[in-house]
Amino acid sequence: MTERRGRPEFFLRLSRSLFLRLALVVVLTAVTINTANYALLMDLRSQGDTAINRNLVQYVHYLAEEIGQPADAGKAKALAQRLRMRIRLDAPSGGGQPSWEVSAEGLAGDMPDKYLRTWYSSDTVQAASIHSFHRIRLRVADGGHLTFDLHPTPEERALNKFYAWASVGICLLLLIAAALSMRWLLRPVDWLTRAAGAVRDGDLTRRVPESRGGELRELSRTFNQMVASLERAISAQQRLVLDVSHELRTPMTRLRLQLEMLPEGSASGKALEAMREDLREMEAMVHSILEAARLRHDAGTLRLELVDLAALASGVTERFHATDATLGLRLPEGPLPLRADADKLTTVLRNLLDNALKYGRAADGSCRIEMGLGLEAGQAVFTVRDHGPGIRPDALPHVFEPFFRADTARSRTADDGRGGFGLGLCLCQAIVQAHGGKIAVESKPGEGTAFVVTLPLR
Ligand code: ADP
Repeated sequence: MTERRGRPEFFLRLSRSLFLRLALVVVLTAVTINTANYALLMDLRSQGDTAINRNLVQYVHYLAEEIGQPADAGKAKALAQRLRMRIRLDAPSGGGQPSWEVSAEGLAGDMPDKYLRTWYSSDTVQAASIHSFHRIRLRVADGGHLTFDLHPTPEERALNKFYAWASVGICLLLLIAAALSMRWLLRPVDWLTRAAGAVRDGDLTRRVPESRGGELRELSRTFNQMVASLERAISAQQRLVLDVSHELRTPMTRLRLQLEMLPEGSASGKALEAMREDLREMEAMVHSILEAARLRHDAGTLRLELVDLAALASGVTERFHATDATLGLRLPEGPLPLRADADKLTTVLRNLLDNALKYGRAADGSCRIEMGLGLEAGQAVFTVRDHGPGIRPDALPHVFEPFFRADTARSRTADDGRGGFGLGLCLCQAIVQAHGGKIAVESKPGEGTAFVVTLPLR
């Protein structure tokens, strides 16, 4: 299926390739120039009064004179032998003279007129050729025709063949050289495409070389400037969130202490519990922000040990027993060992499963979640798939951004337990990337969502 779908996609990409289009333009231009030149040359040759045509007419008259009037087949035979020709007299019917044909030894067979290209024609003389074979026809005084077929020698023919192949070879070499130089000239476009893809995937450090490209150099420079200012703006934004989170830690600690030390009876138990809950949420939020930032700046903060990912995954599913969700598990038979930070990976798996529980309910209220773990191309692949309403395509690229919540219509403190700060996936991504892995999301509205975590085995 993929194979079948892959082919048209390949041809579609090929047909859109700038390189191919340029190559086509170059080839078409070369062919048109050559054809036009050839046609013009042929036209020039067929013009009656050129030096070569005047000489041709004179030459053919000399030949006719040598044969004599009336034409003498014996003289023609000697001439044909000397000049490697076939000479034919087509005498007019009813005239006194018979038609005849004489030929040099070892000539190829007759050449039908239809293969010949006429390049000169006047009242008395007509000349036509194909490759190195030429036919000149002269109208003689009594209304008959003398035809001279000029045959090339075998050496001449071999030389012609050699030149034909040489010209094909030179054309091919020129085409290859043109293709290589076009590739070389278009390399900045390739660099820009790759760099734009990397920036789209979050690598804001990516730049393109500005060393070459002619007019494309300006485009490369502008691209680099654009990414640099994007990087500055985003890091200023991150800095602000980080600074605010840092600054909030001290007043939050003070608040917690004051709450604990509040004299008995100064607030109702319910109000106190609500304040504690709010504080817990704020602490969790600040913790997530600082944790994600720390992991992004220094993956060394991971406490790496040999972890059995299969055991870790089945451990996390225990929290499901208390829910009404149906969980389909696909774990490997044996252990799947990996050097990782067990606590942090548990946070990832827990967040993904919690999200599936929170957001993955089908329209009828049921919740069916599939969790899979396996080995693919030397990497551990962990998948959590639900059959909920899915994520809108416009929201999908943002789900890993801090504070992003696709379902903004819902209050964070909604009674259905769908509360969240929009920090869970951001933290998951930071943890997975600190392990050298990747996290991706696929979602179709109305069908469900799948998160795929890929971790290199190390
Ligand atoms: P939150 O704390 O809001 O759960 P997350 O970072 O974990 O924050 O998720 C960000 C947003 O992505 C959520 O608010 C939700 O809108 C969306 N989301 C996450 N997981 C799913 C899922 N399995 N199905 C649908 N939407 C999801």
